Formats: sequence, C-alpha cells, structure tokens
Amino acid sequence: PIPIEPVAPVQRDTLQAQVRWGERVVTVGGGAPVRVQSMTNTDTVDAIGTAIQIKELALAGSELVRLTVNTPEAAAAVPYIREQLDRMGIDVPLIGDFHYNGHRLLTEVPACAEALSKYRINPGNVGKGDKRDKQFGQMVEAAIRWNKPVRIGVNWGSLDQELLAGMMDENSRRRTPWDAKSVMYEALITSAIESARRAEDIGLPAHQILLSCKVSGVQDLISVYRALAQRCKYALHLGLTEAGMGTKGTVASAAALGILLQDGIGDTIRVSLTPQPGEARTQEVVIASEILQSLGLRSFVPSVTACPGCGRTTSTTFQELTKEIDDFLRAQMPVWRARYPGVEKMKVAVMGCIVNGPGESKHADIGISLPGTGEAPAAPVYIDGEKSVTLRGDNIAQDFRALVENYIEK
Ligand code: SF4
Repeated sequence: PIPIEPVAPVQRDTLQAQVRWGERVVTVGGGAPVRVQSMTNTDTVDAIGTAIQIKELALAGSELVRLTVNTPEAAAAVPYIREQLDRMGIDVPLIGDFHYNGHRLLTEVPACAEALSKYRINPGNVGKGDKRDKQFGQMVEAAIRWNKPVRIGVNWGSLDQELLAGMMDENSRRRTPWDAKSVMYEALITSAIESARRAEDIGLPAHQILLSCKVSGVQDLISVYRALAQRCKYALHLGLTEAGMGTKGTVASAAALGILLQDGIGDTIRVSLTPQPGEARTQEVVIASEILQSLGLRSFVPSVTACPGCGRTTSTTFQELTKEIDDFLRAQMPVWRARYPGVEKMKVAVMGCIVNGPGESKHADIGISLPGTGEAPAAPVYIDGEKSVTLRGDNIAQDFRALVENYIEK
C-alpha cells in the first residue's frame, strides 16, 4: 500500500496589508490568517442603526466591516459611527465602499477619510473618459495622505465597459478569437491589475493594495481567481458576489471559496448572502467562519461533531442535546476566548447510538454516546479518548453540559 499523505491548504506568498484602527491592526495576506469580512445593509446615514449592526457583526467574528459611503450625508455619518463604536469598545476596522463619487467624498469629507481604515475602489465606475484617471488618482491620493490600504474591487456587474469594449474589439481581430467568457475573465483581471499598477505609480505602496474580481458563478470565480493569483502578489479579497439566499447562497459560497482557499487563494473572505426575511445579517459571518474552520484554516468555536441520526435514534433528545451544546459553546465564546486560550480548537461529539457513538466520541476531546433503540438507557461520556462516566436519568443534557464546562475550566 502507498501511504496516504494528509492534505493541507497551500500557503500562497502574497504581500501583507495592515488595516488599522487605533491599537488594532488586522494584517491581511503575507502569511496572516485568512480574515473574515462582512458588510452592513443599513443606511449609513442612520449612524446609530449602522453602529449597532457593525457591533453585532464584529461580535459575531467579523474582523473587518465594510459600509456603504454613497452620499455626503453618509460620509458625514462615518466619523460619528466610528465614535459610537469606539465608545462601545468595538475597534473593528471599517472599510468604506465607494462607487461613482468616492473621489469627491474622500476629498470633501476628510473626517470620513480619516475614520475609515481602508477604501474600496471600484475601477468600473470611478469615472468615464478623461475624468477616469483624475478621479481614480484623487482616491489613491486620499489613501496615501491618510495612510490607508485600498481594495481595488472589480465586479462583473459593474465592469469597466470601455475596457471590455476595447478588449472585445481586439479579440475580434485575433486570427483565432477567444470565446466571450475568456474575454470577460481577461477584462476583469486586466481592470484590477492595471488599476493596481496605476495606484503604485501614483505612490501607493504595493503592500497597501488588495485586489478582488468578484463574479457570481462558482466555476467562473474559480477560473478568474486562479488566473489572478498567478499574475500578481497582491493580497486577495475573495467572495462569490450575489451568492443568493439561504441554502443556495451558502452552498455556492462554500463550494467556490473552499476550492480556492485550499489552493491558498484568498486572504480575506466575505460570504455575500441575501438575508432571508427575519434572518440576522450576522449569518454571513457565521458561514464565512465555518468555511475557514471546516478547512482547518482557522478556529473560532469548539466544533461539535454529531451524527445525522437515523432509525436507531430513540427520540429527539439527541437533536436537542446537539443544538443545546452547540448554542451553549457559541454563546460562551466571547468570555472563554479570553479566559481559556485555545478553547476554540476543542472538539465535542454528540452521537445518537452505539454504532458510531463510542468511536466518534473517543476521537473528540469530550463526547457522549446517547442510547439508541433497544440499548440500555445509559449515555457513556468519553474524555480525552477514555470512557469517563455514564450518564443516566432525565438530566443527561444538563449533566453533559456541566462536564463540558468542567473540561474547559480544567
Ligand atoms: Fe444512526 Fe447510530 Fe449512526 Fe447516529 S451513530 S447515524 S444513530 S447508526
């Protein structure tokens, strides 16, 4: 037999950007952990509502939060939002998302330029014709003046149409023309890389430039990012844009990001999920964190291994206990993270019967095997691979939770 080598995500060599607010420095790229990013969906003019949502996103684990800056009023609200967050002890760096008028907002509202920790520039809508370079230059000069990194974020929904038309034209003159999709991919990448080079020419250091080329198809995203990663050393922000709602958006994001992250591509990620009615915005942070944790790239909360349950599970106790333990561990993390370093790497197993219960529980740090159909009403608990105690009676859930807490404290 040939020994099977464990696989691990590739480490891609990129430049490292530093996104700062006060004492907080979030490093991106250059060997730093892949960062979780999110975006608000409040009207930025509603400073209090926006600050509250940013706080929620930060507490859910978002290490960078982007917000729309689309009008002079929104720009004026940014320093106030920053102040509110500072008062609440939330030091998450803020990224300003600019389209069309970013050059004006960043120069006319200096307090906004200062309060933001990073600017997103969309080269597809920074201006047309003669004004294009000037307006792009104004945004880059603001970044240099305030010492902020920028993300040059290309999106195929707002791709530079002049550039695309020129490339289509050039393609039509090729002896063997490329297919339309290849031209589109090339236009996305060219727009990002040429803009980055222009920003460098203006004086922005290369390590302060991040790139993204977002598309909404899984295979398209993989193709574009693989090519982009080969052609530059800039740190990359990765996300499947307009991923959609619920299960579809979650699965599509996980599929696309999982493949690219395994290739070492992506230094920050965002899951662009359309919230279902009533669904918290923080769900996109939870999913992004889960993608990174499931790939073994980061650890955020202790992971709960649970079987799916089947005809051998006797009751709903198994599902209830799994949910209770998962909710409990997540709820404790803000306190535990500081008190018990490394707790996020812990593995807990909650299993439905004797078939895989003891085995899976032994692989975990602490695990319980609940009694299945026809089994004696007893739930053995395994700690560090050894059977520790057998729980019985009506309080199995509570007793197991106490054992988990006790294990963490020890
Ligand atoms: Fe079914 Fe038992 Fe397997 Fe869970 S461990 S899926 S209850 S056989």
